[in-house]
Amino acid sequence: MLKIYNTLTRSKQEFVPKQPGKVGMYVCGMTVYDYCHIGHARVMVVFDTVARYLRHAGFELTYVRNVTDIDDKIIQRAKENGEAFTDLTERFIQAMHEDERALSVLPPDIEPRATQSIADIIRMISKLIEREFAYVGSNGDVFYAVNRFHGYGKLSGKNIEDLNAGERVDVDNAKRDPLDFVLWKMAKPGEPYWDSPWGQGRPGWHIECSAMSTCCLGNHFDIHGGGMDLQFPHLEIEIAQSDGATGEPFVNYWMHNGFVRVNEEKMSKSLGNFFTVREVLKQYRPEVIRFFILSSHYRSPLNYSDEQLDEASAALTRLYTALRGVEIGDAQMNSEYQQRFEQAMNDDFNTPVALAVLFDLARELNKAVDKSKLANTLKQLAAILGLLQEEPDNFLQGGVVSDGLAETEIERLIEARKVAKANKDWTQADSIRDQLKAQGVVLEDLAGGNTSWRRES
Ligand SMILES: [Zn+2]
Repeated sequence: MLKIYNTLTRSKQEFVPKQPGKVGMYVCGMTVYDYCHIGHARVMVVFDTVARYLRHAGFELTYVRNVTDIDDKIIQRAKENGEAFTDLTERFIQAMHEDERALSVLPPDIEPRATQSIADIIRMISKLIEREFAYVGSNGDVFYAVNRFHGYGKLSGKNIEDLNAGERVDVDNAKRDPLDFVLWKMAKPGEPYWDSPWGQGRPGWHIECSAMSTCCLGNHFDIHGGGMDLQFPHLEIEIAQSDGATGEPFVNYWMHNGFVRVNEEKMSKSLGNFFTVREVLKQYRPEVIRFFILSSHYRSPLNYSDEQLDEASAALTRLYTALRGVEIGDAQMNSEYQQRFEQAMNDDFNTPVALAVLFDLARELNKAVDKSKLANTLKQLAAILGLLQEEPDNFLQGGVVSDGLAETEIERLIEARKVAKANKDWTQADSIRDQLKAQGVVLEDLAGGNTSWRRES
């Protein structure tokens, strides 16, 4: 039985989909004006793993993750670059897809873009005006009237009185109440716009998600995910918009992943401790990043440091080493390990415990005489986490991309050492071994005179 921690009730609840056997899941996607950073990578990997596990558990899943391809930051950045905003967003959507592929993140089933959902967005805003949840402000922008919606604050645990008290006296006289937020924004001269009943403009950020999720999954669906930092106000606003427009409940289970921290500080652009996926990939292999992300529970903070990534790299090396040279048959999985793995994942996707099961399995595999079934089990369970799908030799010999000896050079030295050994020139053979070791390449002599090698992690 799968249990999911629901932010709305602040408890782990048994997962019961709306329709037996079917699951709809929406995750707030990227705003595409820059490269994805490790915080984005975490959202991608966490919900990709959730999707993989739901499918493994037999659910027919529709996974929707949107792309925000119009907003103030995009317009600003395109202006700075002197390019069309669509050129900017197209480029970063491509870059995002490259990062995803590198991290073995499977594409969502539907990836709606805001600029392609304008008609749905306009329809939803019209509905909100009709139901008196929204109004046109004195500047022509359309606003949501927060005080019309009872239950605002229920997701993030805030109440309207506190929020009002915290709000500075608003200089924006266009809205009736400082808490009200914009649904449709009038275009300034030179800005991109779409025609609407309220004039030429563009959608506010929040309404995009409400429109794109309900369009793809219906008014009421099972799981809504995103980063913890979105809880307030973005997701609170999504509830107000969707409930307000449809009069139906919106989402049954709210899942939020924790922050990424760098050397125990919150990762942020202003602190300058900010890493894009591309930067990290220069130093670490993509699977190491994925393993690192899954080594913490998704709701815990994830601490980014070289030390943590080195540990992830060493851990993956241990798992791949267990699979190396083992014939993987199509045997059934070992049911004991499968059960333990599923037990961990059924407990609110507890990936650190699931990984611990894989290590127990690898230890037994190392000692086993008949390895095929255990190896098959290891590889199949790891696939649910998007791990261990490379050829072990590829992983173990791949090493860090930038420096390090080329593969052909390593093979040449191994061959030279073989010749030295054949000539009983032990000094020369040892010296080659030491030379390789100094450059991070470890040799292992196998029965029959062959030598395998791997890069030190
Ligand atoms: Zn959203």
